Parts: sequence; C-alpha cells; structure tokens
Amino acid sequence: MTLVRTNRELLERARRVMPGGVSSPVRAYGAVGGEPPFIVAAAGCHVTDTDGREFVDLVSSWGALIAGHAHPAVVAAIEAQARRGTSYGAPSPLEVELAEEIAASVASVEMVRFVSSGTEAVMSALRLARAATGRDAILKFAGSYHGHADALLSRAGSGLATLGLPDSAGVPTAVARDTITVAYGDLDAAADVASAKPLAAIIVEPIAGNMGCVVPDRAFLAGLRAVADRTGALLLLDEVITGFRAARSGAQGLFGVRPDISCFGKIIGGGLPVGAYAGSRELMSLVAPLGPVYQAGTLSGNPLAMAAGLATLELLDAAAYAMLEARGARLEGELAGAASAAGIAIRVQRAGSMLTVFFTDRAVRNESDAQTADRGRFAKFHAAMLRRGVMLPPSQFECWFLSLAHDDGAIGTIVDAARASLKEIG
Ligand SMILES: *Cc1c(COP(=O)(O)O)cnc(C)c1O
Repeated sequence: MTLVRTNRELLERARRVMPGGVSSPVRAYGAVGGEPPFIVAAAGCHVTDTDGREFVDLVSSWGALIAGHAHPAVVAAIEAQARRGTSYGAPSPLEVELAEEIAASVASVEMVRFVSSGTEAVMSALRLARAATGRDAILKFAGSYHGHADALLSRAGSGLATLGLPDSAGVPTAVARDTITVAYGDLDAAADVASAKPLAAIIVEPIAGNMGCVVPDRAFLAGLRAVADRTGALLLLDEVITGFRAARSGAQGLFGVRPDISCFGKIIGGGLPVGAYAGSRELMSLVAPLGPVYQAGTLSGNPLAMAAGLATLELLDAAAYAMLEARGARLEGELAGAASAAGIAIRVQRAGSMLTVFFTDRAVRNESDAQTADRGRFAKFHAAMLRRGVMLPPSQFECWFLSLAHDDGAIGTIVDAARASLKEIG
C-alpha cells in the first residue's frame, strides 16, 4: 500500500476503485466542479484535508453533527462503549434508553424501531404504512428526498394522480408507478390525489431540506393531516434532518402536527450510521416480532451509534436550541447584508440552524422556484468560499448546517469569507 498524502493523488486512486471516487454521489463535487477535499481530521466546526488545509465546515455530515465534530462527550461515550464491544447482535440497554429518550421528546412517538440509515427507516416505514392500510400507492412531494429506496426514486408522471416514473436507472416501472408526486406545499393537489386514489401514506419533509431549505406554510402540514384523516391514508413525516434539529420535539412539535409514523436518522446517531421509524404502540405493534411486517438488521441498534446518539441528545437542552437559533439568525442577517453590499440578489431561507443561500430573487417555496436559482453563480461562490477556508455543501440545493461548535468567531469567519466571495463573483 502506497502512502499517498496529496488530495490530487488520493482522488486519482479513489476514482480507480470507487465510482466517482466517492461513497455517496454529491461528495464528488459534480454540481460545483473542482476537486473534493479528502478529510483526514475534524474537531468542533473545523475539518482538515489531506493537504493540511483547514476549513470551517457547514456540511456537518449533512446535518448529523449537531454537536460538531468529535465533541468530547460524544467521543468519550463511543470510546467507553467500544471497550465494552462494538456490536452484540442482542439487545442492549442503550437502545432502550435512546428509544425512551425519543418517545419522551416527540409527542407522536410511543415505540421505536432502530435501523442503520435514514433510507432504511423510510423504506421500512412505507412497508408498515402499506401493511396497516392494505393499500399500495403513496404520495410524495417534488424536490424532497427520502433516501434511495426504489419506491422513493420516482418522479411525477405527466398529470396529476397519474402514475409515477422511475427517477433512477434500475428502478422497476412497476414500483415507481405506485408513487405519486406533486409540488411541495400544494395542498390542493395533494387532496385531489388522495381523493382520486387510495393512498397508504402521504410522506413529507416537514421542513424541506433537500431542495435547499424550504419552510412550508403552517396550513400545509395541518392540511395534510386533515387529508390523511379524511381519506384513510397515514401521514408519514420524514424527520431524518429535522428530528432533534428543528426542535427537541422535531418539526412536528414546532408546527403542532401529529404524524402517524415518524422517521429519524442523522442526529440520533451522533455521527454514526443510524435510522429509526416510530409511531403509536398500536401501529408499531404490526412490526415483527409482534406483528406481520418483517424488518430486521444485523447492526440495527448498534451500541456505538446508540451511545453517540444518547450523548448527543444529552447536549440538546433549551439553551442549546436558543443558541443555534441566535447564531442562525445572525448568519442569515449578515449574509443578506453582504449580498446587498455586493449588489447580488440572493434569498436566504432558514429554519433555526439550517439555511440555504439561493442565488435567486424570488421566494423559494417548491422545486420549480428552487430551479430558478443561478447554479453557475453558486458554483463560483462555493469555490470562492472554499479558497477562503469555508466548506459549503457542494450543491445549490442543500442546507448549510450549524452545530453547537459554530461559535461567534466561526460565524464571523463565514461572513467575512462570504463578503469577499460575493464581491469577487459579483
Ligand atoms: C438524509 C436523508 C434521508 C436518508 O438518510 P440516509 O441515512 O442518508 O440513508 C432520508 N430523508 C431525509 C429527509 C434525509 O435528509
């Protein structure tokens, strides 16, 4: 094994043995150009690449790291657990504690099943919804992401309530057909579909994070709840990003909406692979071994992930959320000021500690609004920020995530870099 140190050489090696040189596509920087830094170390809000460059990190492992990188309490919990074993394939007390913690925090949750990723959580939750309703079709919203299960890699057909089409090669048409897609925020369209077709579930990100940050009208989620009740569909909130980020009680707590099933991931694993689906005791009792819905996992409820998740949740008290909100608000305000000083139209959309800078002058409420953003300009901005030591998510359609480690100094660094970068690309 050759010991390679430079980013460039690593990228070449990576591309020979891994598709695109990465383990998840967006990391390849296809949307912004340039070469992705290979990270060798991280602490707090900083990451260091193999060439020794340090960046303020706004990817935050796509939102998982709300405590920041290598938080001492999280690292200590993982170390202590690793010495007691890394996987048992048997129940452990940590799962019980984390499940109790989630149930105590999120009003709609009585029982939890842990899995190993958000994808797996949503995929399993759909199976549960289909079992509970005896129906196959589901409704989702354009621009949302719910992981890469076949049924969720579907896009809108030609008309409302028509059959879905595969959104990836390799997805069977028969599977995609059962997924109907309408515009995010379009309650009327959702109601029409639900009336026209018996739905197993309406699945929605309660705050969209995967077309950039989009906060829906309060009436949207309440309306979906009513549509689900009226038509016998289950309401499935995908809180893989928003769970324990939007609030301790999730976006559902923030908006006062009660889903039938909730999906979690990211934060509840404290930076280790995790997912969970959860709901009422009655519904979750359909899951094996209590009920007929089969779902299992070798590493499910993994003790390292449970320990990291518990240590992370312990840090998230009211003061932590207040701090995240205050720093988010400051960043939003100063970015808007920097853009207007540079004479560039941007739209900063934010929900607490997640935000997106859209290079457009219009409010982004759905995917077609998001598509009006100037991606070329974002790519230039991304590169200019990277040169100044700030690592943004490498796509216009992602959220920047603040953590507890993004202190006022880090916010200042981000704003200074943004001021200079916006001027440069103006
Ligand atoms: C990240 C994400 C997922 C998928 O989670 P993975 O752990 O990447 O499989 C699902 N839903 C939403 C809203 C996400 O942001």
